[in-house]
Amino acid sequence: MIIDTHAHIHTDGIEPGMKARFSPESYWRTRGEVDMAIIIGMMFKSINFEIPNESIAALVDADPKRLAGFCSLYPDDPDAPNKLRHCVRDLGLIGLKLSPTFQSFYPNDPKCFPLYKACVELAIPVAFHTGSSLMSRPARIIYGDVKLIDEVAQEFPDLRIIVCHIGYSQYTDTIDLMKKQPNVYADCSICHLAGLGQDGHGQKPSVHYPYFHWVRPLLYNFCTMGDQDKLLLGTEYPSASGKNIVDALMALPGMMEKMGLPPIPQEKIDNIISENWKRLFKLTGQGRLVPALW
Ligand SMILES: [Zn+2]
Repeated sequence: MIIDTHAHIHTDGIEPGMKARFSPESYWRTRGEVDMAIIIGMMFKSINFEIPNESIAALVDADPKRLAGFCSLYPDDPDAPNKLRHCVRDLGLIGLKLSPTFQSFYPNDPKCFPLYKACVELAIPVAFHTGSSLMSRPARIIYGDVKLIDEVAQEFPDLRIIVCHIGYSQYTDTIDLMKKQPNVYADCSICHLAGLGQDGHGQKPSVHYPYFHWVRPLLYNFCTMGDQDKLLLGTEYPSASGKNIVDALMALPGMMEKMGLPPIPQEKIDNIISENWKRLFKLTGQGRLVPALW
């Protein structure tokens, strides 16, 4: 079972001209072997993405065996913990997405703690956008510093944390953090930056050299994490498709060989593709994806 843990599939809250690109139909057309996807919420005024959480829930309800969803909320909203309870208990969403850079907050700010406490109470994971923010000039990268997540993980040992995009260029901090904190995981939805996502949707870097954005972070992960498999498959669709990401992972051993780098055990790659999601999620008897702790 292959689960894309980071996809942007939306029909509301985006500009009309972008709707086809974000549609479920477009996602499934380019999914390759992906069986299920988690829709990641965005409540990001700063980049004109405010996706209603109800709209994510409606997409999930229309296709519950293939879709699950994370809500997004503003952490400085004093009513955010109650809104989170509504999103989980009433709408059936299974996680929270926050973006310190786009929402302008420090993730270790105690003002966010009631929201993290509510995540623990609801036994759902929280995913943080971290590292760079390439889409928005006003986004302040300092808020996305991966090191700030360390304090959250320390303060809330029962909170399951996903660092999105392996923290972009801060991937060494992310991987060190995963190694150190049992409750921290990461998704590898950075492939579109590696020049591997060019399916008509992806960005097109002028230098096509996957070593810097794809091989190097994964290599550091495999060298550092030992037996721990904490890297989740993610596409950041529509920046890259399910087919792009799985193909890129499968091509990794060949790239390593071509570059004269040490081989990566195939089992480790297979685990990213189809096993590691089980550390955070599970399937119900009805085939719905839910947090592993439910
Ligand atoms: Zn994303």
